[in-house]
Amino acid sequence: MSSSVCVVGSVAFDTIETPTGNAPEVLGGSCSYFSVAASFFAPVNMVGVVGSDFPAEERAFLESRGISLEGLEVVEGDTFRWTGRYHEDMNVRDTLDLQLNVFGDFNPQLPESYRDSELVFLANIQPDLQDNVLSQLRSVKLIGADTMDHWIDGHRDDLLKLLSKVDLLSINDSEAAQLSGEKNIVKAARAILEMGPETLLIKRGEYGALQFAADDIFAVPAFPLETVTDPTGAGDCFAGGLFGSLARDGAVDRKSLRRAIVYGSVIASFAVEDFGLARFKRLEPGEVEERFRQFMALTDFHS
Ligand code: AMP
Repeated sequence: MSSSVCVVGSVAFDTIETPTGNAPEVLGGSCSYFSVAASFFAPVNMVGVVGSDFPAEERAFLESRGISLEGLEVVEGDTFRWTGRYHEDMNVRDTLDLQLNVFGDFNPQLPESYRDSELVFLANIQPDLQDNVLSQLRSVKLIGADTMDHWIDGHRDDLLKLLSKVDLLSINDSEAAQLSGEKNIVKAARAILEMGPETLLIKRGEYGALQFAADDIFAVPAFPLETVTDPTGAGDCFAGGLFGSLARDGAVDRKSLRRAIVYGSVIASFAVEDFGLARFKRLEPGEVEERFRQFMALTDFHS
């Protein structure tokens, strides 16, 4: 098992409004969130596209976290922009503006040095592009993927084709219902496992996540926080922590997977404590381990 993680997804500048404040033009996108979260556990190979406006300081930040930018294409034009506003109930948000810019023509190409990656995560992009990435890999051992309502509705055939090749699918509860046509989460999970993935992770925002496999269910809470500042990218961070932990363990057995799911929840709980990626700029590895221990205490009913 290799000790690095390869991720393909969006790199964006986000403008975010929440009930507690706002942040204009902060680094975001699924690929950025995943990569920075995973970087607390293992080296990361990033595949994405940015415009010629992408600042040197952001490149330097990503590189300082041990993230390879060899697969980050730079195209003449502007980087993807997304603007979102959260409701008082922060599980609900509206997209106010979306400018795809150079991301509109994204066609991910893996550098030669990434093609032997064994742990790969296909963050939320068009399913046929996710599939195209798979065809560039030579020795992949674990393929993870995320998707969203837009692809479930409008690109269902491509998505089903992709799912037949994916090992781990990570989606939220409403997407699970939409994909399966089942409102009950257990029935929905069973139907989705039939589509191909061996492992299904259903994210439930502030209520945590459930992992389903053929003969196994595992539940993890979200870490109880007094203040959530910005939930953007929490799901991508969850997946980043999960894949990073698997890479660090060098194994994908049941025990490693359960530990990885808890690390995913731990790292996502830090992400939401500040806007964008700001919390990670001052997060120490010792704090991650300390919260992991608090998590064990939180769910321990043996002692
Ligand atoms: P999440 O909160 O997990 O949905 O992730 C939010 C991130 O997704 C933000 O940083 C956005 O830049 C990015 N994003 C928003 N819309 C899209 C889209 N259509 N395709 C790819 N990434 C997106």
